[in-house]
Amino acid sequence: MEKSREAMDKERQELPFWQERLNTLACQYEQFEKEIIQFTKEAGIRCPEGCGACCSAAYEPEVSLPEGEYAARYILEEQQELESRFSMMKKRSCCIFYDESTPFHCMIYPARPVICRGFGFSGYTNKYGEFIYRPCRHMHPSQFKEHYSNGPIISRYQAQVSFGSEFLPISEAIYLGWQKLKYLNGCSGPEDRAS
Ligand code: SF4
Ligand code: SF4
Repeated sequence: MEKSREAMDKERQELPFWQERLNTLACQYEQFEKEIIQFTKEAGIRCPEGCGACCSAAYEPEVSLPEGEYAARYILEEQQELESRFSMMKKRSCCIFYDESTPFHCMIYPARPVICRGFGFSGYTNKYGEFIYRPCRHMHPSQFKEHYSNGPIISRYQAQVSFGSEFLPISEAIYLGWQKLKYLNGCSGPEDRAS
């Protein structure tokens, strides 16, 4: 899971491009959020009070490496105490940033990836180009209206924020991003806090 020093050196040379990429990603998150807010308002969709089943399930969603780097930047710049969560990497049963006691059960809520923003609040297009809403199974159908002509399309945003990179389980993508940032920020080198 750890990158070589050569790979890190190459990434350091690409630092200006990389920073620009994260700024682009922030704009795409903002646009996605606007679409979700409008859609959920119109459709009357909401999660049942206290539910966090999507984050506590015994699997993790996969996200792109740039999304992992974005969340890692948030941790380094605003929530450094969360670095201790990386010690859970090898023993985790779900996303290491899940915490029932925090708002929305997510410790990195402002920097969460597209799949976390859109799960239950987005849809896809069928072969006729029509929008199809994909509700979460924990949402009761009576909670919302049934017909929508338009709404946020999660795959479209995922493609935009992946920049062609591979997808990894969310904890691993953030961990790799964190290692990369630590190195790019002039720390001693790739670290491995997983135990
Ligand atoms: S998206 Fe679904 S599983 Fe996640 S909190 Fe909302 S209702 Fe619960
Ligand atoms: S980043 Fe937050 S919202 Fe996404 S899976 Fe982890 S805890 Fe859940």
